[in-house]
Amino acid sequence: MKWAGSASESQMNPEQNMRPRHYCGLFGIYGHPNAAELTYYGLYALQHRGQESAGITASDGIELRTYKGMGLVGRVFEKNILRSLPGHLAIGHVRYSTTGSSNIKNAQPLVVDCARGQIAIGHNGNLTNAARLRAELEKQGSIFQTTVDSETILHLLARPFNGDRAHSLEAVMQRIQGAYSLVIMGEDELIGVRDPFGFRPLVLGKLTWTEPIPAQDTNGMVLAENLRGRAGTAYVLASETCALDLIQAEFVRDIEPGEIVVINKAGVRSVNPWKGTQQPHALCIFEYVYFARPDTNLQGRNVAQVRINLGRALAREHTVAADLVIPMPDSGNWAAMGFAEGSGIPYGNAFVRNHYIGRTFLQPSQLIRDFGVRVKLNLIDEMVRGKRVVVVDDSIVRGTTARARVNTLREAGAKEVHMRVSCPPHMWPCAYGIDFPTRKELMAANNTLEQIREFIGADSLGYLSLDGMFAATGLPASEFCAACYTGKYPSAIDTEMDKFIMEQRRTRSHHTVADLVQDDTQRRLL
Ligand code: SF4
Repeated sequence: MKWAGSASESQMNPEQNMRPRHYCGLFGIYGHPNAAELTYYGLYALQHRGQESAGITASDGIELRTYKGMGLVGRVFEKNILRSLPGHLAIGHVRYSTTGSSNIKNAQPLVVDCARGQIAIGHNGNLTNAARLRAELEKQGSIFQTTVDSETILHLLARPFNGDRAHSLEAVMQRIQGAYSLVIMGEDELIGVRDPFGFRPLVLGKLTWTEPIPAQDTNGMVLAENLRGRAGTAYVLASETCALDLIQAEFVRDIEPGEIVVINKAGVRSVNPWKGTQQPHALCIFEYVYFARPDTNLQGRNVAQVRINLGRALAREHTVAADLVIPMPDSGNWAAMGFAEGSGIPYGNAFVRNHYIGRTFLQPSQLIRDFGVRVKLNLIDEMVRGKRVVVVDDSIVRGTTARARVNTLREAGAKEVHMRVSCPPHMWPCAYGIDFPTRKELMAANNTLEQIREFIGADSLGYLSLDGMFAATGLPASEFCAACYTGKYPSAIDTEMDKFIMEQRRTRSHHTVADLVQDDTQRRLL
């Protein structure tokens, strides 16, 4: 296993700390001669799901080889590294640390060599009973190498079990709770798993490939007439369909909640122990609102189209007389387009985003006010001067970013600033892998609508209703988790859970989700 270390990309971007963080991105491929290279491209397409570390494990059927490093996919891997990962099977992972610190030790895939052979795993989501399971395993003598919840799955999976991996996985799934989409590989097998609630997306794709193998004459010259080709079909697992698009793989289907898909020489086999049960589904609705890439399809619905619908609904629910609708780039772009369409108010990109932010070694907070907010977005003053402006964003978490933006618009001479948010207020922390701040820090959990409006300095403020948000997806509300809006958590949440639980479990000095949930004395937004 090889590791590369560099500074975390998210440490380089001060504004990032004010937004809800992405969790992780998964990719896996079986049956392609350049599996590691395609995994690299798959991760490239999934970069928005995690920027702190990236890793690939590949197998030639005999040996698992792994390379991982801190930072963006394009910086971690280069040609020679990918060449050192030969084989027809590979899994890859991009990570934002939803549990455990951001360091190379916690980067994935995690790999073990055990009685059941070599196993590598990539995990997207948060296990809500990981601390308890880990304590239990440690009591029985297990030695952990990392502080991430995903290692618990690996330990459970590595235990001797009579049956194949799908059966032992079924047994593991009976023990773990919370959110998990997984890509797992053995020496010659790729497995995809989605938790019974389906919190995190995972899709199956298929790639038909041909590879010309040029025959050469004695001088090493390629004889065109002797070109022979190898061909085959590879199967792909990915967090989002945008990763399939990049490698020109065909979308086959979403992996169902609770499903285990085993891909090997024999083809694709599926097991779903939860099929036919009354298990509710709970896809994270915030994937549609903010996390997923707009060119991804989730549950057959295009994310950009859903965001346009969110904007249209927002325009219906919170009509305002104005001259211009502007988005908060990038995730607010589509909702703002929908708002403009729905309201008949012209749309304009007044905020210009700098996509090429490198490391900001200095934090010149003393010299430049709101530097963290300004470094990423700049305003075209001429577009807003003297106008009544509607700003559309996908969330207000702590309120500080929205306040800075409204202030920038006022300084540029906007006559009125109306804030519109394309989902309901965030009132509760997420137990399933999204790094929202604690309930005490969530703006909407502690203030009335009027107080928030006043804090951010807008002339008016409107959030989309819960019903409006569900309707925009075209899917029934019963398909979704919306716990960060409602406080109704679809699955049991562990009283010990928080991002650093594995590091802090001996000190118990942290806020727990239970603390936050029970702390209902704070004023709620109407
Ligand atoms: S609590 Fe919110 S962010 Fe977390 S999984 Fe549910 S909908 Fe998604």
